Amino acid sequence: MLSILATPIGNLGDITLRAIGTLKACDAIVCEDTRVTGSLLKHLDIPKKELISCHGYSKPEKVDAIIERLQKGEHLVMVSDAGTPGISDPGYALVSRACEEGIKMEALPGASAFLTALSASGLPMNQFIYIGFPPLKKGRHTLFTSFAEEKRTIVLYESVHRIEKTLCEIADALVEQPERKIVIARELTKMYEEITHTTVSELKGIASNITKKGEFVVIVGAER
Ligand code: SAM
Repeated sequence: MLSILATPIGNLGDITLRAIGTLKACDAIVCEDTRVTGSLLKHLDIPKKELISCHGYSKPEKVDAIIERLQKGEHLVMVSDAGTPGISDPGYALVSRACEEGIKMEALPGASAFLTALSASGLPMNQFIYIGFPPLKKGRHTLFTSFAEEKRTIVLYESVHRIEKTLCEIADALVEQPERKIVIARELTKMYEEITHTTVSELKGIASNITKKGEFVVIVGAER
């Protein structure tokens, strides 16, 4: 069996009882970075477990070897460094292969940054689209321009290195909708959590003063 297990996005208290029980009971854990998962296990007081590294750059043979172990009846858990595996994180390759092979799977829900941000955004969340990280080059301008017509709330991820640039480009793309609402959620669930509510007209000013530290979710309110 393969258990797909969400881990905290910052606050280590955000792990479920079911997740802890499953981490304790499994035969081995497939993870992105063995050091990150090792620290989580240490924090949870889970004694030595086999950690199998499998990430975006792993060769297909790595996935084959994991599938073989699952077919032999082992109980493996898959985690990413933080949040829900597969959400802008590795995970898809293994889960899709496991589906093809008819392997029994279960998903253990937990934290995800985009849902955490959305739930506190105060923006309509009955319908939204999740963009993940915007493309670095090709398609970037077209994507931001398309926001002008979008009738659903838009959620995207951004790294500290590009947050200022991305906010400025969104401001340019939506310059004709100055009242459009924007929420920037930084360091969710952590000590320096910060949720900023603003509008397109103020976005460039916010962008140039934003704390260039931590992790960010950007939410653009729907066009009305
Ligand atoms: N799998 C994760 C999830 O379920 O949210 C996402 C992993 S992705 C590699 C990392 C990105 O998620 C960060 O660059 C940031 O955009 C967002 N993120 C993760 N943790 C966050 C946090 N505590 N506060 C704000 N954004 C966060």
